[in-house]
Amino acid sequence: MKLVFFGAPGAGKGTMAARASADFSIPHISTGDIFRNAMRAGTDLGKKVKSIIEAGDLVSDELTISLVKDRLKNEDCQKGWILDGFPRTIPQAEALALFCPPDLVIDLEVDDETVLKRLSGRRMCKVCGQIYHITNMPPKKEGICDKCGSPLYIRDDDKEEAVLVRLENYRNQSLPLVEYYKNRKILFAVDSRGNADLVWDGLKKALSGMKGW
Ligand code: ADP
Ligand code: ZN
Repeated sequence: MKLVFFGAPGAGKGTMAARASADFSIPHISTGDIFRNAMRAGTDLGKKVKSIIEAGDLVSDELTISLVKDRLKNEDCQKGWILDGFPRTIPQAEALALFCPPDLVIDLEVDDETVLKRLSGRRMCKVCGQIYHITNMPPKKEGICDKCGSPLYIRDDDKEEAVLVRLENYRNQSLPLVEYYKNRKILFAVDSRGNADLVWDGLKKALSGMKGW
């Protein structure tokens, strides 16, 4: 199964993709996580993308496409994969269609108000990348990751200025993908306004009702 999770910043791509990955036993590939890990490790890639990401802008198609193309060649992707945060532009979708076409694109639908609330309360584990929310999905112990005990932090691009840039980029560059995948009849819309358990239930029901899944 080759699945893409699509949606605005804060739509719940990372949270739902992580659950689907555990449930279906296929790798979760998040371009945002790949970039953040590279930034944390101070690699050449990390240095290259740091200022772009912190400002809320998009990394170039060229760099992002070659990174995903390489990643999907890995042995662990042969049974399927879940992409989170890619494709995000029409050129990225066109490239993916050539090197590894997805079976299904899940569009997590949210409204602006929900997005702003989610991003302003989002916290992330510094080490394992687990996502929390101060009120919707709080950790057991404040500021500490349930999974690995590391400290939680606020992503630089979750600060207000960068959030506005990200939403604008989403509207201009990513939203056209909805039409693109609708036309190819592989878009599947899921209401993503509720809490994580509710969205996950809706998603699972929808997927299990599909032929051959
Ligand atoms: P969100 O969906 O919440 O904005 P992500 O973790 O998916 O967050 O991405 C964080 C940042 O990484 C983006 O704002 C962008 O700068 C960069 N990025 C991630 N995926 C892509 C992509 N496919 N193309 C270009 N830039 C990307
Ligand atoms: Zn952790």
